[in-house]
Amino acid sequence: MRPSPRSALPRTPRSRVRRSRGASLTVGDVVHIRRAVRDGILEHARRALPDECCGLLIGLATGTGTQITRAHPARNLRQSRTRYLIDPADHFAAIRTARRVGLAVIGAYHSHPASPPLPSATDTREADDTGLLYVIASPALSEVRAYRLDGGRLRSVELRTTVSRGIGRPGS
Ligand SMILES: [Zn+2]
Repeated sequence: MRPSPRSALPRTPRSRVRRSRGASLTVGDVVHIRRAVRDGILEHARRALPDECCGLLIGLATGTGTQITRAHPARNLRQSRTRYLIDPADHFAAIRTARRVGLAVIGAYHSHPASPPLPSATDTREADDTGLLYVIASPALSEVRAYRLDGGRLRSVELRTTVSRGIGRPGS
């Protein structure tokens, strides 16, 4: 059995999640990410050094844009400095967490420990879902970028950091 490229998760549950929201993601839309979530991804990337980290992105995609509200860290089954494979158990946990709060898994993230947050040839080759966001974090540059698969290429989309209003702990 050949696992799905970036997660050993079978394709079916992912496809079901993707369709369940009924919102189509359009290339070129703006993606909003809470600052605490962005910082959390970078923090995860630093903790995982020298290896790549990976995880799932939970949020909401609407006609007017995409909102990443939570990052769900996952184990990197490859334990590699240049590759990642999301543990399917963590992927399922993210799906359950998202459903509980009426959201969906809308993408995945991983880090580039020693290179800029630009899609590698492997990232492009293994990206297989036009409905998902692919986020890459560079702990060295403190930079996070987002991409979508479009015409066989990972194209950059604008990632806008938002500060959550009110009090509340970051990441809560
Ligand atoms: Zn990569």
